Amino acid sequence: MKHPIRQTVLLNSIPVRPLHLLKHIGRLADERGVSVYLVGGVVRDLLLKRENLDLDLTVEGDGIAFARLVADRYGAGLAVFERFSTARLAFPDGLKMDIATTRQESYAQPALLPTVQPASIEADLSRRDFTINAIAAQLNPQQFGRVLDPCGGQRDLRARTIRVLHAGSFQDDPTRIFRAIRFEQRFGFRLERATVRLLAQAASADLIQGLSGPRLQNEILLLFAERDPVRAIARLGQLKLLRFLHRRLCYTKDVEDVLAAVPKALAWWARRFPDSAIDRPMVYLMALSSKSSSTVVAWIIRRLALSREQAKHMGFVGRRVDRALKKLTDKGTAKPSQVYRLLADFSDEALVLLLAKQRSMQHGAHVSLLKRHLVAYVKNKAVKTALTGRDLQAMGLQPGPQYKAILGKLLDARIDGTIKTEADERALVEKQL
Ligand code: ATP
Ligand code: MG
Repeated sequence: MKHPIRQTVLLNSIPVRPLHLLKHIGRLADERGVSVYLVGGVVRDLLLKRENLDLDLTVEGDGIAFARLVADRYGAGLAVFERFSTARLAFPDGLKMDIATTRQESYAQPALLPTVQPASIEADLSRRDFTINAIAAQLNPQQFGRVLDPCGGQRDLRARTIRVLHAGSFQDDPTRIFRAIRFEQRFGFRLERATVRLLAQAASADLIQGLSGPRLQNEILLLFAERDPVRAIARLGQLKLLRFLHRRLCYTKDVEDVLAAVPKALAWWARRFPDSAIDRPMVYLMALSSKSSSTVVAWIIRRLALSREQAKHMGFVGRRVDRALKKLTDKGTAKPSQVYRLLADFSDEALVLLLAKQRSMQHGAHVSLLKRHLVAYVKNKAVKTALTGRDLQAMGLQPGPQYKAILGKLLDARIDGTIKTEADERALVEKQL
């Protein structure tokens, strides 16, 4: 009897608990009379021996019904997205899994989301983005570990190549342009020749203009969340893809220098302030925009449909950072309270950008001075006055705008260390009166 080609070995490198779960899911699939596969990024990463526990499953049959069955058996949380025939499961031990129905897609209009119909696993694989992401491994017990690779994904993994599945791929879905660069950069692969040409054609046909703000934002920020965004950005520049942020985006040597200084600035920040959660992709976007006009920045904010908070970070990139840097490295700004006032409304992301920008100017003394200012500033953010508005009222002061001024003076004096106690504060208030 001939056995199907198996790569049980492949699946056996999955950690023991998820592996157990997958085997059991394969048995459930037999009970249901459906075929179930592990598919996409996780299979690619297994073949590359890279850890990945984003378990994507796809079912030839009713994926959602099957997901309900699995969720029932395991007491897993279930979220169903009917429109995309997918469901997300959250298992009690924290493991997450997506289960989809194998499907075909048709694109009524380029760059818009497709309509989907159920289809065979082969058809499902052939609607995917790149050959390396179009490999499946079956989970049903008799076929456990059987690899389906109709598009030559394993060959391209060995050749370290990113290749689209057909000539219209980027037209169907221009997000694949950014995905191609994301995988190329992440794995250190190369875009296959025809794929580069198709990508360049798609880019020059302005298909990316058709992408909605949220989708473009998602792609850009995912790319900037990779390990080496500086190189990824350089690659975008090389492929003329930065003009999709704005055609007058200023991407000069100076900007490259600021970008190149971001990783070290982020690393310093993380070492100094391990508890602060920095939005790293955002810092790269800010650095990339750091020499563009405020009109261009405002346009990018709209184009990418940035949230209010993201837009606030972007508001620092131009003149505000430059002005702050100038003052901070000026001898006249010596008092801690001055530094505090100067930086008071800066986001942490803007502070990291400040440091990156200073580093890019290669003025060592100023970099150390700025670091000292940043450390002092972050410490001083925790300083509070003992007295409040109510205390001022009790001291006989009429409520009004002067409260803010007086409390501000008290805070400055606390930060500068010229007063230390509540009694000092009271004395200072009395003196002001
Ligand atoms: P990552 O490790 O970044 O998550 P991934 O390959 O898992 O990479 P996902 O975005 O999680 O990427 O998508 C899972 C799978 O879905 C992909 O491997 C691919 O097969 C398919 N896919 C995702 N996005 C697209 C797309 N835009 N066009 C075609 N297929 C896609
Ligand atoms: Mg994934």
